[in-house]
Amino acid sequence: MDSLVEDYLNDILDRVRDEDDGAVADYIPELAKADATPLALAMCTNQGWIYSVGDDEREFTMQSISKPFAYAAALQDCGVEKVIETVGMEPSGEAFNELSLDGKTHRPVNPMINAGAIAVNQLINGEDSSVDDRVEVIVDYFSRLAGRQLTVDENVTESETGTADRNLALAHMLRSYDVIVDSAEDAVASYTRQCAIRVTVKDLAVMGATLALGGVQPLTGERILEPLVCRQVQAVMASAGMYDGAGKWMASVGIPAKSGVAGGLMGTLPGQLGIATFSPRLDESGNSVRGAKIFRALSEDMGLHLMSAVTRKGSSVRGIRTRGRTTVFRLQGGLDFSGAEEFLTAAENQDITTPRVIIDARRVTESNPVGRRMVKEGLRRIRENGKKVAVVDPNNVLGKRRFEDGTRVATTAAEIDEQ
Ligand code: GLN
Repeated sequence: MDSLVEDYLNDILDRVRDEDDGAVADYIPELAKADATPLALAMCTNQGWIYSVGDDEREFTMQSISKPFAYAAALQDCGVEKVIETVGMEPSGEAFNELSLDGKTHRPVNPMINAGAIAVNQLINGEDSSVDDRVEVIVDYFSRLAGRQLTVDENVTESETGTADRNLALAHMLRSYDVIVDSAEDAVASYTRQCAIRVTVKDLAVMGATLALGGVQPLTGERILEPLVCRQVQAVMASAGMYDGAGKWMASVGIPAKSGVAGGLMGTLPGQLGIATFSPRLDESGNSVRGAKIFRALSEDMGLHLMSAVTRKGSSVRGIRTRGRTTVFRLQGGLDFSGAEEFLTAAENQDITTPRVIIDARRVTESNPVGRRMVKEGLRRIRENGKKVAVVDPNNVLGKRRFEDGTRVATTAAEIDEQ
């Protein structure tokens, strides 16, 4: 069966592909030269499945998307108490590079703006660490989160270092209030290299999924972060990840997210998914224009808004039984995007040898539009592969008795025999 999820993701890319609003970041010369056309989207599920479409092998620098992960590394190594003493957790409502500290405490207000991120970077590997050692620790952390060895883009580092006046000003300000002890030059060098770590959308989706899953990397199974660290990072990302647009983003898209000026955008759905997009043209706040549109479409079409989640416990596939000429998929619980995706994966991995396939939906308690659509479309594709298919759905949780191509969904033995 072709991947139904990837078909959906491709549809979403097609919808935004021709849009060319926004402009590539030009304050970093190396980014100003970047090709503006690449477009990619990836998702990593709680089972460690990666769905990716578009330019999904293309590497780009993380830039500010490194901030939540560096925050996670600092929280994990120094403890929550120490980190929140150094950097606050209130949304600033300001631009990412605003020259601002909290008026009373003289601490950066959150780790998602540059002032906070420079201070967080300094907490990693202790304040006496050399720049090289600190960067090595960070690259190692990020590589474990991604499940492969990542590298620093030295051209982007050098290019940004040459135009880093604003970040240097921030570092001097942090030093003047004893928030950091390193020289401003070293602090900015370390932070700039952190920002220049190269990733693909697939890496970011896996890294995001690790946060969403409470710290266990879904591909390697390694516990990298404590659940409390992941909760803290995602909470701060939800309120401050999208800078001055954070409130509107959370209300309309509802996926905690972090953007970077190279064009990446990474989001997490706690307990479910890591999501990432790449498209280099940015809006005035420095967020990828097409990336934001893709997230909006995912949220609306696939019901991924955090505040509209269908409650679901355990797997949505209760069991798969083969009896005589029939294979029965017994579903249960709430059927949202993740629930339906579990069914599709189970169906894909099942070697179906019987001529008939039935979905038993009697134990499904709730469903949302994307859940219903995906389960029925999965079943229709099984029919396309030569099987006779039907649903047992007395409570009508799968909605209209029609497939997407307009044909009828069989619910009785007589109907299944007509196929
Ligand atoms: N390295 C960039 C900077 O400090 C990161 C900014 C961003 O991605 N928003 O300006």
